[in-house]
Amino acid sequence: MKPVKTEVLRINSRRPNDSIIARASKLINSGEIVAFPTETVYGLGANALDPSAISKIYQMKGRPSDNPLIVHIADMKTLRGLVSEISPRAMRIIKKFWPGPVTLVLKKSKIVPKVTTGGLDTIAVRMPRNRIALALIKKSGFPIAAPSANISGRPSPTNASHVKDDLDGKVKMILDGGSTEIGIESTVIDMTLRTPVILRPGGISKESIEDEIGEVRFHDSLLGLRRSTEKINKSPGMKYRHYSPNARVVIVEGSRIRAKAKIIELTEKLKDEGKKVSIMTASKSLKPNADSVQYMGNTLDTIARNLFANLRKADSDHIDVIVVQGIHYNNTGFAIMNRLKKAAAETIKV
Ligand code: AMP
Ligand code: MG
Repeated sequence: MKPVKTEVLRINSRRPNDSIIARASKLINSGEIVAFPTETVYGLGANALDPSAISKIYQMKGRPSDNPLIVHIADMKTLRGLVSEISPRAMRIIKKFWPGPVTLVLKKSKIVPKVTTGGLDTIAVRMPRNRIALALIKKSGFPIAAPSANISGRPSPTNASHVKDDLDGKVKMILDGGSTEIGIESTVIDMTLRTPVILRPGGISKESIEDEIGEVRFHDSLLGLRRSTEKINKSPGMKYRHYSPNARVVIVEGSRIRAKAKIIELTEKLKDEGKKVSIMTASKSLKPNADSVQYMGNTLDTIARNLFANLRKADSDHIDVIVVQGIHYNNTGFAIMNRLKKAAAETIKV
């Protein structure tokens, strides 16, 4: 790809400036790509119905072409055009959680090109609640496909400088609406099955979806999340590398007392080996002898909001190893641990 000049435009997230939205939507309408904030993470947006614009997204991110994109909409009329059917259960989720961080997988209609859905007959779609995102979608007049605005495999971007770090010279425009509200991606739920299946845990928990529509299941691939005691030994470039900073991520899980003792011991060992070590923990009383200690927050919401920024901060501090104290798996904790496990090279259970 020919290098471009990347323009970063500040924009108010409560009252998005019309002229900036107009400039961004003009780019989208000419088949270009614009990075913009949603309430989850920053997205890399293009016209979902334009195959050549969509191909550019895959190329820019280095994303495998069989990994489908989420299509973002701003009204129900557009949804009806994109899908062949909306079940009553899907409708209940929509009424309760949209606009918001839950993505529905539904049967697609003919107007949706296969590049957008990674060759599938289904489409993943959601209505974001960030006002910049909504204004941009409305003004463009198209549904906007938008994966996270990072290089594939890196932690998702939660502010405009994260986007710039990954895509400077590649993307033409970044709308800078500050830090994102939720900080992890949307929950993806397949509504085409008899019992809906969560494919990716995210901003809305399984528990709160079940409160609305009854039983849903986690996809089999998510069920091993709490186990994995032994070393996973993922190497960079392996297929499932995801959310990874340059630093090696090690998770320590177990009872509070044992986990803290293990983290202190591990830090000593790594320091003796000459490594630069950062600790990520939600426990204020943990005081290891590390190069930095990143406090993750005292609620699941704050831990989620800061998660990817914490991982990226370690890279800008030239940290070699990030040791993370695992958190519980309830509610959004499940989605947070899912991201951490994918980023991690190793999990130690104590
Ligand atoms: P990202 O673009 O990084 O937010 O990732 C989008 C997520 O949605 C990925 O996990 C995709 O596999 C998933 N996804 C998108 N479209 C579909 C679909 N039609 N069926 C199943 N999963 C999908
Ligand atoms: Mg992503």
